[in-house]
Amino acid sequence: MSQREWIEKDFYKDLGVSSSASADEIKKAYRKLARDLHPDANPGDAAAEERFKAVSEANAVLSDAAKRKEYDETRRLFASGGVPGGGGFQPGSGGFSGGSTFDLGDLFGGGAAGDGGLGDLFGGMFNRGGGAGGATRSRPRRGADVETETTLDFRDAVLGVTVPLRMTSPAPCTTCHGSGAEPGTSPRVCPRCNGSGIISRNQGAFGFSEPCDDCRGSGSIIDNPCRDCHGSGVQNRTRTITVRVPAGVKDGSKIRLAGQGEAGLRGAPSGDLFVTVHVRSDKVFGREGDDLTLMLPVSYGELVLGGTVSVPTLEGRVGLKVPPGTADGRVMRVRGRGVAKRGGGSGDLLVTLKVAIPQNLDDKATEALRAYLQAEEASGFDPREGWAGAR
Ligand code: ZN
Ligand code: ZN
Repeated sequence: MSQREWIEKDFYKDLGVSSSASADEIKKAYRKLARDLHPDANPGDAAAEERFKAVSEANAVLSDAAKRKEYDETRRLFASGGVPGGGGFQPGSGGFSGGSTFDLGDLFGGGAAGDGGLGDLFGGMFNRGGGAGGATRSRPRRGADVETETTLDFRDAVLGVTVPLRMTSPAPCTTCHGSGAEPGTSPRVCPRCNGSGIISRNQGAFGFSEPCDDCRGSGSIIDNPCRDCHGSGVQNRTRTITVRVPAGVKDGSKIRLAGQGEAGLRGAPSGDLFVTVHVRSDKVFGREGDDLTLMLPVSYGELVLGGTVSVPTLEGRVGLKVPPGTADGRVMRVRGRGVAKRGGGSGDLLVTLKVAIPQNLDDKATEALRAYLQAEEASGFDPREGWAGAR
């Protein structure tokens, strides 16, 4: 069965159970319906046969925990606008908090399309959030997005880390699993709006669509509200969620965790969680894009004679070969010891060599240095040879 069909079919409605129904409730509802609607019990009744098929199909998906999960997720994705071609429904546009919504269909007697000019004229002005049709109008409101932040050590940001985030925010009620109805009971379809959540009102030539007063736009009525959440399906809860921060995250990046925001009312999809990541600076390492940088103190002799010096990286030390006669300030590249790149591979570690001048030489070293300078001069080395200011 295609995603498209899943989006269009409400298996919970087919079985007459709530979307939070337990496996047992589903089993019971199916057994009763299958018995009542069975073709043997209703010979020649085409409508009953059609219902029997729908009920069997619904049960095939909902009785299988894995399939049910996939079905729920597909529909949740659709509700948040995530399915291409799934209609113009966007997060947030399903809310009716802004008061009356102007309904073009009512204004033009339901036949706006054939009217040409006027439809075009008003089409752009009254954005109803897309023409996804009646099915999406009754969808309960999606939970709000939540923003939070976390601060990582430099090393963790480069290598990737898993951090626990403690947050207090509305979450689905654990007692009623977000349905808002006392366990064992189910919300019923609002009789006033037939579950659409919208009622139409005529005022003179104009028709208005408004959220239904009886069900406050949700399309369903709860006769026995859950005692813990008073029917909202939502409780304030402190949760700890574990966030996997990918390797190479930059200071100021935002990570989106789909469905980890505030719970929607009465089982509506949750919003998203956005985590802004701050990165502490490091005493040793700096960062330039995908490369790490490092200032390595060396002695004059190490640069003149060359050799191998030990360099720290984020994962252990490596030996860096310095060629004889290397200039002070030269940048050496240690390949692959930088930040992991998105498409695979890593940046480099850029090591700047910086001569450290000794401040307190002992007599022996001072004597040796004097002797060295004399030998250097005798060998013909003039540090200012070829320098523009030498004359
Ligand atoms: Zn509850
Ligand atoms: Zn209603």
